[in-house]
Amino acid sequence: MNLDKSLLKKNPSCLPAGTGSPAGLLGMTFGYHIVTFGCQMNKNDSERVEAILRPMGMQSVETPEEADVILINSCSIRASAEDRVFGMTRNFQALKKKKPHLIVAVTGCMPGRDKDGKLENTIQGVDLFFPTKDMVMLPKWLSELNPNLRPIDLDADYLSVSPIHHVKAQAFVTIQTGCNHFCTYCVVPFARGLEGNRSLKSILDEVRDLADHGCLEITLLGQIVNHYIAPDKEYFSPQNPYHKNEFAKLLWEINQIEGIERVHFTAPHPIYMDDEMIDALTLPTQLNFIHLPVQSGNSAMLEKMNRRHTREQYLETIQKIRAKRPGIAIATDIIVGFCGETEEQFHDTVSLYQHCDFDISYTAKYSQRSGTLAAKMFVDDVSVEEKKRRWFLLQHIMEDSTKRKNQAYIGKEVSVLVDTYKNGICQGNSSEMKRVMFDGGEELFGTIVSVKIEKAEMWILVGNMVYC
Ligand code: SF4
Repeated sequence: MNLDKSLLKKNPSCLPAGTGSPAGLLGMTFGYHIVTFGCQMNKNDSERVEAILRPMGMQSVETPEEADVILINSCSIRASAEDRVFGMTRNFQALKKKKPHLIVAVTGCMPGRDKDGKLENTIQGVDLFFPTKDMVMLPKWLSELNPNLRPIDLDADYLSVSPIHHVKAQAFVTIQTGCNHFCTYCVVPFARGLEGNRSLKSILDEVRDLADHGCLEITLLGQIVNHYIAPDKEYFSPQNPYHKNEFAKLLWEINQIEGIERVHFTAPHPIYMDDEMIDALTLPTQLNFIHLPVQSGNSAMLEKMNRRHTREQYLETIQKIRAKRPGIAIATDIIVGFCGETEEQFHDTVSLYQHCDFDISYTAKYSQRSGTLAAKMFVDDVSVEEKKRRWFLLQHIMEDSTKRKNQAYIGKEVSVLVDTYKNGICQGNSSEMKRVMFDGGEELFGTIVSVKIEKAEMWILVGNMVYC
């Protein structure tokens, strides 16, 4: 988006009184408020935006009312997520009336997929509307809108901006953006473009730096994270035991970095779960957990979704994973009510769910997204009521199995990275990504402790810390 004059025209009253010198020189501070929708990659991108805004003389504020800049990082995966952004920006218009210099910006998937400009033309009260990769332009655009903000120089590649990590012990590390797969229901290839892999050297440098600053847990992020292809293969160590799967190779390299105790990644694709990749799940720092989206348990539906694997291939992969790492917790993503899904085809998903004995599933009712291949090729013909019925049925099955699986932890010890402390209660995730709660002090925040489980509820395990 080329803003310059056009943008100033769009919001002519956005300059606060007393212009001329940048924020730092005047000792002024400005507040930013970021609202993030969607996936962990969006959260990581918001952390990058923070790393851009702070050196411009801005600080985070709790509420939109206190902010000088509001940035919404949008998600397009479902219509409801976009509707919330439309609603929010409408509400901010009243705020803009009270506070004429307020800047409202929208980034993320909505601007990313808005090739024909329809969304930008419809959305109201927004000063900046730009895809994620253009966040490096923020210093220029914001300082044009408000000359009191200090412009800074940035590299053209937004992934080179080091994110602000809020919990020192945990960090997301994006290794890849975009996707080439074009699953027919998905907006990601349109919103984020084709797959681009970050340099191996910069990933390893970032993880080493995080480890030096006390980070214990890394979550590697990519749209098809296990399809990572290093642009600079020369940085793989000669002793790396893997040869074919470069994501498995990357996991091995990260395992060599002292200080990193837990490694997690999201989201892998079943077709890249080859033998090396499955073997890498046994590396010492790997969490005892994998999230492997399946979307449907019916091969004809999978083909219609362009998932490139069959029900049988997925089941075989799960079997291999369980053989290699017994006791691993497995999560999945499922879409119910995709175009033309019959009752029988839905029951294939139910039976696959039961067969795989997943720990949890993130089930979505299919929602047609404009611009996707499914929107062009198929009719969204499963009724809203039927989608709801299928969703509830699967949800009940999941809740029953989650409860049963959680019960099995009673009496066992799990290792927990404490990410929350409040009023004498600590919480964190176990290596199986189960939420765990126990009595403990603030000093445990950001550490890994052992907890013996005494009680299992639907979404949380409750226990006591084990002192060595
Ligand atoms: S693999 Fe499919 S679902 Fe995942 S981001 Fe790519 S197109 Fe979307």
